[in-house]
Amino acid sequence: MAIERIQEELRPRFVQFFAPLQAPGGMPAGWKILDIETDQGVSLVFTGPHSTFTIELERRDAARACLARTVHFNVYYSVVDRLAPERRTYDADERVLFECVVACIAAREGELALTDVTDWSARVRVREIEVSRMLAPESPRVYYMNAYVGCMIGCSFCYASHRGETSRWLEGLPRTRWGQWADVKINAAEVLRRECDNLEPGIVRMSPIITDPYQPIERKYAITRQALEVLLEKGFIPVILTRSSLILRDIELLARFPQAAVGFSIPTDDDAIRAAVEPGAESIEARLDTLRQLHDAGISTYAMLQPMLPLDPERYVEMLAPLVHAIDIRPLCEVPRLEETLRQIGRPGPLDPGWEEATYKTIRAAFEARGVVVNPENEPWAYLAPPGHRR
Ligand code: SF4
Repeated sequence: MAIERIQEELRPRFVQFFAPLQAPGGMPAGWKILDIETDQGVSLVFTGPHSTFTIELERRDAARACLARTVHFNVYYSVVDRLAPERRTYDADERVLFECVVACIAAREGELALTDVTDWSARVRVREIEVSRMLAPESPRVYYMNAYVGCMIGCSFCYASHRGETSRWLEGLPRTRWGQWADVKINAAEVLRRECDNLEPGIVRMSPIITDPYQPIERKYAITRQALEVLLEKGFIPVILTRSSLILRDIELLARFPQAAVGFSIPTDDDAIRAAVEPGAESIEARLDTLRQLHDAGISTYAMLQPMLPLDPERYVEMLAPLVHAIDIRPLCEVPRLEETLRQIGRPGPLDPGWEEATYKTIRAAFEARGVVVNPENEPWAYLAPPGHRR
């Protein structure tokens, strides 16, 4: 496999693209840009009078619901409001800001000279990328980082695939199959060490959505392991999410952190369904076994039930509750793709919204009755079990 070595180029380009917003009068008073990220499409994080507001750009696709569309982009938003985390709509201030951003995109997107080429026959492609930053801020003392961009586990429902494809399209690369490419942040440890020296220590979420930190090429590159070594040295706290038992390679390193949490995505208790939807990932049994070993090593463990595939709620809670301190339960995403996959194996799809709601309520109540923290998503510190905690 030929490996290309390149410099990160997309992020500086989009910092420049959105420069008009930073000019006097470019956006409403009281707001400022906290971050611009280009690993997963383009994300702009703003802080304002009472909220952190994220606006995301994805390649235009009329079939995907979004808040605004320009000639080339679907535009989305999300709000993190610590005073009202359940809030899912935006207020008048945020709306004005959103409209400023959409106007900026519409005015400048013609300069991007975007092309549209697809190559489904393309073979696996790995690039080594020299990046200029690793830690992206999420909220005070909470950061996230991606050791890689792209994921060779290649789950069929992967929400990240559209975002990853958008970034490659913006680079002028042809569209290829999800699971067939990955970018390796080859200088991650060096950049991370420099950043940690200048930031207040806190939680570092390792790879929220665009990649799995223990995907197969981690065996060769060990970027995640190198990052953990830096975080340990600098007093930061990793909160990892994976589907791979390769993390056991680092169990001794993880156990040396005063605090660390490791989560496993476990979307069903039925391995036949898992095999259809996530053919490149490990079995449910292997994930449970890995969770058990991490838990026994004294590391905080959690599970992520996303997407909630068909499952037996009682069995699911029974197998996981003894192994985890917390669980995140999220709704289905990419429903049409999932339904098609389930149809192909002759299983009823999760078509009925009533099923999803009823299962969610049952599972949530059962985990809470077993003392498991449910949905710490808006409070990342809750992924960490109190010192000395053992289930
Ligand atoms: S392991 Fe995660 S990032 Fe990788 S393809 Fe599956 S869902 Fe996407």
